[in-house]
Amino acid sequence: CGIIGIVGASPVQDRLIESLKRLEYRGYDSAGVAGFTKDGVQRRRASGKLKNLEEVLAAQPLEAVVGIGHTRWATHGPPTEGNAHPHHAGRVTLVHNGIIENFAELKARLQAEGRTFDTDTDTEVVAQLLDRELASGKAPIDAFKATLDQVRGAFALVIMVEGEEGLLLGARRGPPLVVGYGQGEMFLGSDALAVGPFTNRVAYLEDGDYVALSRDKAQIFDEDGKPVERPVQVVPQSP
Ligand code: GLU
Repeated sequence: CGIIGIVGASPVQDRLIESLKRLEYRGYDSAGVAGFTKDGVQRRRASGKLKNLEEVLAAQPLEAVVGIGHTRWATHGPPTEGNAHPHHAGRVTLVHNGIIENFAELKARLQAEGRTFDTDTDTEVVAQLLDRELASGKAPIDAFKATLDQVRGAFALVIMVEGEEGLLLGARRGPPLVVGYGQGEMFLGSDALAVGPFTNRVAYLEDGDYVALSRDKAQIFDEDGKPVERPVQVVPQSP
């Protein structure tokens, strides 16, 4: 339901949580974060309130400077820890807001190819599909476009790809997603409030846009894969 992604220059754990707190107003039933650590991609998830996730993190901190966070409002699959985002398949870890309408058909196809699913969510098909496209040898941005061309529905996505530690991928079809421009850091969030503690310079992705985010830039593409610029606006600094 709420999304935050940070390609940071300093630790992100507390900043992910701060941002998720600002997204609480949207409602949620579980939450989670993931980041690139020295031991590879790691996730921390919990059902219920953010306080539960904070307890998990207190026991097992997430030491990362690039990471993603999510508050979930379950549409497919009960609000358990196992169904909480971020979801993971192969090289892909991602968070998703919205619904993948054709997930059942995509899931059946992927299962027929021998892929096994860990969750009851519609979201996991996106992780599995993108991992499959990456495994066929495509570059991350091309694999992402190929994935977006196969999914139907209304969604915002923010994605980490193992082996691409300074990169986040994002896409918007329906629910909003904003790019936040920081000082040597970049952000993706469900709204300007989510990135408000870190920057007041934001660009609103248009419907169908997808983006490759690195520490110093956002490369935005429209739904046809054409590079586009979206105006950077200065929003009022949030308290
Ligand atoms: N459909 C997804 C799920 O049920 C995402 C829900 C959301 O927007 O939080 O896990």
